[in-house]
Parts: sequence; structure tokens; C-alpha cells
Amino acid sequence: MQRLELSYCDERAGEIDMLVIHCLAFDVDDALKSFHEAKVSAHYLIAPNGRLISLVPEHKRAWHAGKSFWRGREGLNNFSIGIEICSNTLGQEAYDKRQISALIRLCHRLMRKYHIKPENIVGHSDIAPTRKPDPGKAFPWAYLARHGIGKWYRLKNAARVEENDVAKLLAQIGYDTSDLPAAETAFCRRYLPQLVPTDCDIYHLLENPFDSQFNPQKDEMFLQVLKAVAQSLA
Ligand SMILES: [Zn+2]
Repeated sequence: MQRLELSYCDERAGEIDMLVIHCLAFDVDDALKSFHEAKVSAHYLIAPNGRLISLVPEHKRAWHAGKSFWRGREGLNNFSIGIEICSNTLGQEAYDKRQISALIRLCHRLMRKYHIKPENIVGHSDIAPTRKPDPGKAFPWAYLARHGIGKWYRLKNAARVEENDVAKLLAQIGYDTSDLPAAETAFCRRYLPQLVPTDCDIYHLLENPFDSQFNPQKDEMFLQVLKAVAQSLA
């Protein structure tokens, strides 16, 4: 594995128990340029061909999550390992199979090493829904869940959930619901990507991570899937 030591990191103020998946760049050069320009970083970068590059040692706090919230905690750089995957559509179209294989191997190693629970494996959009669209609607969460990476759901379990309040269910899963349309979009990107409009203009997408006109509550599947995911995390 190639190692490049980025200096955009400092000491952690917490134990590692989360993985955060990102996509910010088309290729390795573009990613490194973005890191240097914004003075940010991640622990790992997965190139378009699946090559894994280490950027920051795991014990250091990389600067990847920014203002973030998940399951009652903020400042998630303290607790997480950040993994960037290159994509020239910002995850609007499928990732390369070699990238996903590399990601699965990396996640399995980190999950074992730090005892990371599936519910603590998230995308950047899950933990910063008003600011970030990555890793995008084409990121294969269902496929990864079959490899034990992240939580998926069984639709039949929706019937066991009495709660019908969308904000409460999203909060129960872990989302910051202070901006409800943003949290709903983040949830759909992950669990109901077919509902999310494709935005092929990735610069527009970066500036506007969610469309406040998008209303998944009109779709009858939305509440069912929301309940089923909440049940899977209960
Ligand atoms: Zn990101």
C-alpha cells in the first residue's frame, strides 16, 4: 500500500468506533489537490482502479467529517476513520468493482481491529445532511450490508414499528433532523436511491446537497422502509 503523509491532522480526543465514507474527487491527483486547497484530509483514499493509498495514520485525527452528528454525538473526526473513494460522477453512477472490493477488505480489517458496529458505518451525507451529498446515491450500501458493512433492513419488520413520525424515526436511526428535508434526502440516498433525482451536474450537487422540493413522503415506500430501518437498529 502506498503511503502519503498529509499534514492536515492532529491528535484524537476519542476512541475509534466509526467509519465515514466519502467521495470528493475524480481521481488521485484531483483528490490530493482538493485536500491541499481546503487543508483537509482522510485516512485512506481508494483510486479509480481500486488501489488503496494511506494518507493519515489511523491513530491521528484526520479532518474529513467537518461539522457532523450521528446517534447523539458531534465532532465525529474524533471517533472515525475517513475513507475517500474517487468517482467521476460523485457517486451518481456506479463505482468500479475493484474499488468496492478494496473498500470491503479495508472495512473488514478496520471493523475487526476497532470493534466497529455496523450502525456506525456511515456516509458523509448521513452525518452532515445539509452540507454533503457524498458518497452519492449509487454507492452500493445494500451490497456492502451483505458483507456485514453497515445496516440494512427487512421490509416485513416495518409492521413491528408503531411510531409514524418521520422526524422521530430518522432521529432514532441516528440523523440530525434539525433540517428535516435534508435528513430525508440523506436517508433516501442510502436506503431508497431510486427515489432521489439524479443530478448529473456535480458542481451543482456539491453546492446544493439536497433539493428542498424533493418530498419522499409522497412515496408510500418511504415510511415503510424508514420504519424497517429503525427496527433493524432497535
Ligand atoms: Zn465527504
